Amino acid sequence: MCKLPKPASAHKMDMVIATSRQLRLLDLNHTRADFPILAQTVHGKPLIYFDNAASTQKPRAVIEAQRHYYEHDNANIHRAVHTLSQRATHGYEQARETVRKFINARDAAECIFTRGTTDSINLIASCLGRSRLSTGDEVLLSELEHHSNIVPWQLAAQATGSKVIATPINNAGEILIDEFTKRLSLKTKAVSISWVSNALGSINPIAEMIRLTRRHAPNAVFVVDAAQWIAHGVTDVLLLDCDFLVFSGHKLYGPTGVGVLYGKRAVLDALPPYQGGGDMIETVSFEKTTYAALPNKFEAGTPNIAGVIGLAAAIDYVQSIGLADIAAYEHDLLQYATARINEVPTIRVIGTAASKAGVISFLLDGVAALDIGVKLDEAGIAVRTGHHCCMPLMKRLGVEGTVRASFAFYNTKQEVDALVEILKWIAKNHKPAAAAPPACAMASPQMINAISFAPRSAESPKAAADALAEDIALFDDAAGRSQFVIDLGDRLPKSFGQLKAISQRLPGCMSEVYVIGRAKPGSTNVLEFAADANADIVRGLIAIMQRLFSGQRADDVRAFDVEAFFRRIGLDQFITTQRRNGLGSLVARLRQLATDIATKEV
Ligand code: PMP
Repeated sequence: MCKLPKPASAHKMDMVIATSRQLRLLDLNHTRADFPILAQTVHGKPLIYFDNAASTQKPRAVIEAQRHYYEHDNANIHRAVHTLSQRATHGYEQARETVRKFINARDAAECIFTRGTTDSINLIASCLGRSRLSTGDEVLLSELEHHSNIVPWQLAAQATGSKVIATPINNAGEILIDEFTKRLSLKTKAVSISWVSNALGSINPIAEMIRLTRRHAPNAVFVVDAAQWIAHGVTDVLLLDCDFLVFSGHKLYGPTGVGVLYGKRAVLDALPPYQGGGDMIETVSFEKTTYAALPNKFEAGTPNIAGVIGLAAAIDYVQSIGLADIAAYEHDLLQYATARINEVPTIRVIGTAASKAGVISFLLDGVAALDIGVKLDEAGIAVRTGHHCCMPLMKRLGVEGTVRASFAFYNTKQEVDALVEILKWIAKNHKPAAAAPPACAMASPQMINAISFAPRSAESPKAAADALAEDIALFDDAAGRSQFVIDLGDRLPKSFGQLKAISQRLPGCMSEVYVIGRAKPGSTNVLEFAADANADIVRGLIAIMQRLFSGQRADDVRAFDVEAFFRRIGLDQFITTQRRNGLGSLVARLRQLATDIATKEV
């Protein structure tokens, strides 16, 4: 069994540094201690948290602010005269003022609390859809956008007959400004662009894009998706002169389920309300309802009060360090990490914009991103793998997905060194997969016959499950269990190319998975199947599914509780995160095949 090398002592701060840097690193030592979660080990290794673009960790100040609120002030806001309600209302409205100062808005009423970036963009797109967009209008996005900044606009476009257009990027992941300018016109009613790309880290020239929009598309509102910027640099909405700017609390060291929608007062006033309910009204009668003024007009119902209080604490916290210092530290770390990661043989960094935030997306030749993610997790390193909710961007770049390491100010060069060490090990030790022949549309009977369908491994799925559970019980740690799964996958017949040539890719999987199933020749009620994937861990999961189901009676397959089995063997992360690795999709496909066989449709 292959063993990963031990990461270098990742959390020891390097004190042998120039005096000017010394202060910052000593501060860093201090700030790391503010994040209790960072002190733990994962799979016996010190946690190295490089998934900050997905969500940042929370300092004690944020956790404490929320706890204090629930222990002392908890009540509904804006509604009652009693003391607790007044305190809660005061805390909530103080938080709005904290946000206003943080982004330099003119008026706190222009800062609406939402559930997060996604909620904010849905609000804007939906309200613009009901008031400003009509047939022939255009909404301009970029190829870099997160699904949250695409799908809400598509919904609005479908409802109004307007059109969503994506301005192109170059291969480095930079928006082509000339192309952007060409797409601006009197038809453009909204431009919505991320300040920083979550998948690649490109920092877009947002101020320049706003100026160009004002000049060439005077009818358009400009929306800044600041989800990935907000924790990494200074934000000044007056200086930017954007119409909207949106962000999430949880990417700013604050709680989940809370975010901000900044909008210019005149623009917000002109929009219809988003949701109806308590707190957003002035008067209600069955004949006619009138709406509250800003910000309440857009805050229907009881909001996430504790979340808002926590968000304000997060803002106070980052401001106590200083966003300019955070930006400088992270820039230094990114440069170091970029240089070091390029030492890894066969590495391909995806996204090489001249101006980047602390994100490195990459691939290793011949290794599935998912396998890299699993190996890094075994070493205590948390990264994200997949399409990062940017499917159109992945398609534009010609990749299925990437591995993404994303940094925060609590990350260190020593942690980067540990990442590089493991990546070098993976690059050296990975066995290349067989190349796939070109796909063809039709499967001939000879092609099907050439596939080796797995025979029955035990009397029933339950008996197969018991045998597997016994084997896996020999491993008491996650690394051992996932290596066991990978070893099972190693013994799976290599039929990736054959299956790819004759079947459709299984949807909903991060890796490429192909599966073919049928009623066993000579039987009417027995399922057998062959499947393969381009990720080692998924090949192992396929091998487990074959042992459980292939050659078994369709009715037994349908009756077997796969989820409970994966929980029993301690691998339920693979089934609960099914949309990441494809096991859930494979299970669904096999159940469908079993149902078709049982109901005689195959
Ligand atoms: N936009 C960008 C650029 C993002 O990175 C994200 C989160 N990954 C979102 C929008 C959506 O944010 P949330 O899930 O917090 O609503």
